[in-house]
Amino acid sequence: MVRAESGDSALEAIREIKLRGEQVAVMLADYRMPHMNGIQFLEQAMEFFPLARRVLLTAYADTDAAIDAINLVDLDHYLLKPWNPPEEKLYPVVDALLDAWLATPDTSIQETRVIGHRWSAPSFAVRDFLARNLVPYRWLLTDDPEAARLLAAAGLTEADVPVVVTPDGKSLVKPTEADLAAHVGLSTTPASEFYDVAVVGAGPAGLGAAVYGASEGLRTVLVEQRATGGQAGQSSRIENYLGFPNGVSGAQLTDRARRQALRFGAELLTTREVVGLEGGGTTTRLLRFGDGTAIAAHTVVLATGVSYRRLDAPGLDELTGRGVFYGSASTEAPSCADQEIYIVGGANSAGQAAVYFSHYARRVHILVRGDDLSRSMSHYLIDQIKDVPNIEVHPRTTVVGGEGSDHLERLTLCDGRTGTTRTVDTSWLFVFIGAEPRTDWLGDAIARDRHGFVLTGPDLLAEGRRPAGWALPRDPYHLESSMPGVFAAGDVRSDSVKRVASAVGEGAMAVSLIHRYLEAQ
Ligand SMILES: Cc1cc2nc3c(=O)[nH]c(=O)nc-3n(C[C@H](O)[C@H](O)[C@H](O)COP(=O)(O)OP(=O)(O)OC[C@H]3O[C@@H](n4cnc5c(N)ncnc54)[C@H](O)[C@@H]3O)c2cc1C
Repeated sequence: MVRAESGDSALEAIREIKLRGEQVAVMLADYRMPHMNGIQFLEQAMEFFPLARRVLLTAYADTDAAIDAINLVDLDHYLLKPWNPPEEKLYPVVDALLDAWLATPDTSIQETRVIGHRWSAPSFAVRDFLARNLVPYRWLLTDDPEAARLLAAAGLTEADVPVVVTPDGKSLVKPTEADLAAHVGLSTTPASEFYDVAVVGAGPAGLGAAVYGASEGLRTVLVEQRATGGQAGQSSRIENYLGFPNGVSGAQLTDRARRQALRFGAELLTTREVVGLEGGGTTTRLLRFGDGTAIAAHTVVLATGVSYRRLDAPGLDELTGRGVFYGSASTEAPSCADQEIYIVGGANSAGQAAVYFSHYARRVHILVRGDDLSRSMSHYLIDQIKDVPNIEVHPRTTVVGGEGSDHLERLTLCDGRTGTTRTVDTSWLFVFIGAEPRTDWLGDAIARDRHGFVLTGPDLLAEGRRPAGWALPRDPYHLESSMPGVFAAGDVRSDSVKRVASAVGEGAMAVSLIHRYLEAQ
């Protein structure tokens, strides 16, 4: 433990620790200190140790400042003074933060380096994949002398980027996500051929099902095509999830849920896309992967959520990953410093991204089709946005085109009230429009509604008749699909509430229905 009397001397200590190549796990700062307050200290200190957990000590009167700091310095916790008895109020908090810090793949993997071009979709894909899987890495542009040294050492050239140099010194040229997963310690191959429950999709619903399934003794595998956390993992701050009065970032919630699932013994496979489900007529369900291999299970939970719809305007497709991004792409935030950025969408996801990017960008423009945000965004976010001077909302405005040579340089916007168009200079467009389930791979095996969402329980009973091919002498259980033993949870389910809490709840509920199903077998 290193103790300092002021923010300045603490920063001096932090710099010294950095130069010595050591780590900082947790930083606790008093809000009220001479010359520099605790938030200012944490803001500067996190430049050196962004992964260190951050705690602010406050008096009751400063609670508002602490709450403000949550967005500014991504505070992990604030402690109200006095924290007596420390055994109850202080040590457990510090212990939990130390545990969380120790569990992040930090010390060795910290040296993963990614070398790439600034405006390159494959380079962005690599960085985004690592970030979503919570793998820390150093990003080096090709013109950085360190990048040149690394490429030369590996016998590679600029033409080979993106190149990932792993902590053990291996260089991966234009790696696939599966290559990356294998090299950063994520599991991609199933340990067994048969499970009690196979969960497809590791967003909140899938993670919820995995935690409850594994904790209740079911052999549980969780299969994820990309990165744990799903849409929630992209959220800069979820403020309405029960038990987190100060909000929680999607990355933190995902990190906790993933550790919880693994602790209970769930197996987690990453970068494995499920492309087929077989098993009607038998009691074994088979999930097929893209490479032709398969796993079998007594039951399946479909928790594949939804994906953003593409913005249909000329020029944008070619610029995806090179200035046009779907979802929050938080890896890009530092590069947006002092820039004009555009966000399309009027729901909470767009609002959160606007607040997040407003800490970096000169100005954030939110483009919405409607007259204002009130129909699609939570009240608390609308209020937050009103208070941020560098966010501007443009009602009745759509993007009708984008152009640029090697990256986005201009957007054409249309004012829906007058039909007039105008061109704006920008290199950043983040799209958060509607979402669709990617369930085509289910084919006819599972009944879906006309938008592709999975029908479950009572929704399958057309005028009291059970679904075609349903052979059991009972109606489908509440979250059960048209194939017995296959359940759907979260956003992929027809008519579901699109929220983190409901997804987690449905994941848990699916497990209790699975018990019922297995008992009746
Ligand atoms: C930026 C953002 C902010 C949000 N903020 C909030 C908020 O503040 N509060 C709130 O309550 N809700 C919020 N939401 C909504 C919330 O995140 C979703 O309702 C929730 O994540 C749904 O969980 P899910 O598990 O059903 O699906 P998802 O989160 O969509 O996860 C589905 C997972 O399945 C995987 N998958 C899909 N197909 C396959 C396949 N074939 N094989 C293997 N894996 C597959 C996907 O890669 C994904 O990881 C936000 C959403 C976004 C995008």
